[in-house]
Formats: sequence, structure tokens, C-alpha cells
Amino acid sequence: MTGSSTVHSGIIVKKYGGTSVATPERISAIAEGVAQQVGGVRGLIVVLSAMGKSTDELVALAHQVSRRPAGREMDLLLATGEQVSVSLLGLALQDRGVAAVSLTAAQCGIRTDSAFNVARIQSIDTERILAELEAGRVVIVTGFQGVTTDHDITTLGRGGSDITGVAVAVAVGADACEICTDVDGVLTADPNLVPAARLWPEISYEAAIEMASSGAKVLHPRAAELCMAYDIPIHVRSSFHAREGTWIRGSDDMVMEQAEVVGVSSDRKIAKITLREVPDEPGLAARVFQDLAGEDICVRLIIQSASSEGRGRITFVLDEEFAEQAAHLVEQWKSAGIASDGIVDHDVAKISIVGSRLASTPGLAARMFSALAREEINIDCISSSEMKVACVIAGEHVERAVRAVHDEFFPPEPAR
Ligand code: ASP
Ligand code: MG
Repeated sequence: MTGSSTVHSGIIVKKYGGTSVATPERISAIAEGVAQQVGGVRGLIVVLSAMGKSTDELVALAHQVSRRPAGREMDLLLATGEQVSVSLLGLALQDRGVAAVSLTAAQCGIRTDSAFNVARIQSIDTERILAELEAGRVVIVTGFQGVTTDHDITTLGRGGSDITGVAVAVAVGADACEICTDVDGVLTADPNLVPAARLWPEISYEAAIEMASSGAKVLHPRAAELCMAYDIPIHVRSSFHAREGTWIRGSDDMVMEQAEVVGVSSDRKIAKITLREVPDEPGLAARVFQDLAGEDICVRLIIQSASSEGRGRITFVLDEEFAEQAAHLVEQWKSAGIASDGIVDHDVAKISIVGSRLASTPGLAARMFSALAREEINIDCISSSEMKVACVIAGEHVERAVRAVHDEFFPPEPAR
């Protein structure tokens, strides 16, 4: 990996999440902030999520008319949320005398593949964006959406505005992408669960990717991957105050050496599927995961246990939103003799410690397991890599588990 480029474009991308634009007051507050910053940079691009929980509300609406809403029409619906927030910010800026233009993904050429609901950005035609910046306008872009070569509207998957923010930053060669959110930056744990969680001034791309993929809500894992691939630093910061948050950048550019354990994260929005009595034959695991891939279902964790008497067990964890689709596949696998039974368990959660050299540093996993044991929390499955040790536990214990494991690695400072 090369170090960050020393040529500065003077362009900054700021992405605001749903809570940051939840009300007209919040949108006005962002307009105020942007109005103050606009003179100081060559170009300002603002990427927005939909207001508050409006995407959830659109999903709920779709469920009222369809049993399994998905595909093209679903994306056309979901993409409307971001159109509301960008146009409102455009109006708010113009009201303050700031030249601004709001653009949908189609208008600014964010081209994706046609995997509706989980589309991937293929290219961004920056011509319009750059022309608007050149004309002195703040450019406001809808997050989360794209357009196919056939002019169909797509969405990038829940939380996808982060991906848009970073992809736009990459495409225009921005100096940085700011992720403006409702927490102060990347912390050692979710501050809503652990009020004493500490803020990191900087972390590596690798640690950010692991934190994000193990459930930390601050950043979409695909956004962190993009930044790493193109070496665009991200600044995760609060949209409620001006203090510095966390810089995510290449480890070569970091001032400090990264700690072994960077954080404790958890994820309740998962489901666990256990396939029992899977015949011990080559090709069956391949078939199961091909079928899942065929439906664009992302799997978070896979555990296969050694077989006894010619039959084994495959357990995997997936995002809750895919559980229903996967349950359909389970029925097919049962009829095809791939498993005698398949159990879908919704009441589970995953807790992870994330960092570097985890599996190869003696005692770190043991400390995590001991912290859970002291709370008498049973561990259902364990998986580990150099960057992560993850445990699946009963969903109801997750908050207590996070506090206990966080206290183990980041002991509360003694009162003075
Ligand atoms: N509005 C979309 C969602 O709620 C995208 C985002 O917020 O990043 O998933
Ligand atoms: Mg988000």
C-alpha cells in the first residue's frame, strides 16, 4: 500500500447519517455548519441518508402489501427516502444564501450492477459533480442508491450511504471523507451500552473493517474496505459538535502503534442456522453456500464441527434480514437429504473482540471467555482469526456481555 497522496484536491466529502438529518431542525443545523465551512475549502460534497427511521418505515409499508418485498420495485421505493433529505438540505442552504444543488444517484452517474437491494457501485461519472463544484455550488448527493445501465434505481444495502460517501470521495479524489454521525467517533464499545467507552484518535483501515463487520454501527464495512483500497482517510466524527473524532487511515501513516484489542462490538440483528446430520461427503458444504450465494445472502460466520458416524453439523450466522430467505433454503436442503434438520434461531447475538494479533497473542481469548464466565453467560459458538475472536451467545445477555468484556480489556479508571 502506498502512503496518502501529498497532492491535495481541496475537496471534502461529508456524509451525514439518518439521526443527523432526522428533523427539519437537524437539517437546518447541518445547513448552518456547511454555510460556515464553504468558504474554507475548494469544494464541498455532502452525502445524506434518509431522515431518521424513514427507510425502516418504507420497509414496513412494503410489508403491508407484499409478503416478501424485494427486487426492483422495493429499491425504487427505498430510494425515495434520500431524495427527501437531499432536497430539503438544498432548500435550507439556498435559504441561507449558499449556492447548492441536490442530485440523485442517477443525476450524478453513480452506476451500479443490477443486484437490487444489495447493489455494488461500479463507477461514478464525476463530470456533473465536478462541474457543479467548479461553478461554486455545494453538491448534495443521495446516499444508498445507484442506477443501472438500464436506468433502473438500485440500493446498496442497509446502511449503504457510507459506501456512497466513500465512493464519491474516491471518485473525485477528495482529501478525506467525513462520516458525521451520532457518536463521537470509533470507540472501544458502543457508548449506548458502555458509557465509559473510550474514543480512539486514530485506528487502521484493517481494524475499522473488522470493527464494522463485527457489528460496530459507526461505519459500513464496505465503506471501510473502499477507503483502504484507495487509501482515502476517513474521519468519523459527531454531527452534534465540532470536536475531532477518529481518523481511519493506513497503519504506515499512524502516529501510534495499534493496541492489541481495539474494541468490543456486538450484533443482535443476526440469526443462527444449524444444519444437523449433514452427510460427511465432499460437495455438501459447497452446495449449501452456493445456494446462499445464489440468493445474495451474506454469511457472517461459518462453523462446521467434526463429524461422527459419517454425519456432521454446519452452523452459520447471517444478518437477520436474510433469515426468512435462508429458512426457505433449509426446507429445500432437508428435502434434498443434505440435512436431517435445520434450526433457525433468532434469539442470538454475537459479541467480538477486535484488534490485531489476537489469535497469536496468548491469553486474549481466555480473558474474553473468563469475563463471560464470570457473568455466567454461556458461549454457544466461537470463531477466531488474527483480527477477531467472536462468540455467539443468547440474545438476551448481549448488553451484560459487552460490559463485562469491555471492563476486562479496558478497566474502568479508578475514581480520583
Ligand atoms: N437510509 C438507508 C438505511 O437506512 C441508508 C443509510 O442510512 O445509510 O439503510
Ligand atoms: Mg448508517
